[in-house]
Amino acid sequence: MKQYLFQELLHAAHEVYSSTDALKQFAPWPSDLLYVERPVQPVPAIRQIKMWSDEHPLHTATQQVADIGDWKQTYREDEVGFGFLQDYGYLELYGPNGHFQTDQGRAYIGYWGRGLYYPWHRHEAEEIYAVVSGSGYFESEGAEAALLKTGDTRMHHSNQPHALTMTDGPILTFVLWRGAGMAGLPLMGAR
Ligand code: ZN
Repeated sequence: MKQYLFQELLHAAHEVYSSTDALKQFAPWPSDLLYVERPVQPVPAIRQIKMWSDEHPLHTATQQVADIGDWKQTYREDEVGFGFLQDYGYLELYGPNGHFQTDQGRAYIGYWGRGLYYPWHRHEAEEIYAVVSGSGYFESEGAEAALLKTGDTRMHHSNQPHALTMTDGPILTFVLWRGAGMAGLPLMGAR
């Protein structure tokens, strides 16, 4: 049952990928995805995720795995504050430590709650965000800021500082990483 729900999640993510040119141009879909059992690791935000009603298939598929996901939080309380950690979390859908194992790429599903401010940060890997549901105000150094909604994408270059503010409500995103540093983690306060 658990594997079935993650297959559904992967399928819904692939539908988003196949219908979004910017994602297809960013990185190929891995050819060797293998489901692995990951520990169930909850975050407080799964309660918000499950209560947030939206029809998008990747949104509902994420809700289906909310209670069985290996949720991660890259940051510590002294970096982002207590509130941030209550309202945020992400899953590694595929990648070196993902629910589907591969070394060909890395994909996340990330959630940030209403009113949250994700401060300036950077990472070596190149990144593209696709908004699944909700909206967020995306800022990145050297580029015009923009409020992005369902279907919109935004790319961040290697070590390009960026920030995200949830102005109108929460946001659910599908995120791909590529290139050097793909196995690394985001670093805070590096503007
Ligand atoms: Zn990033």
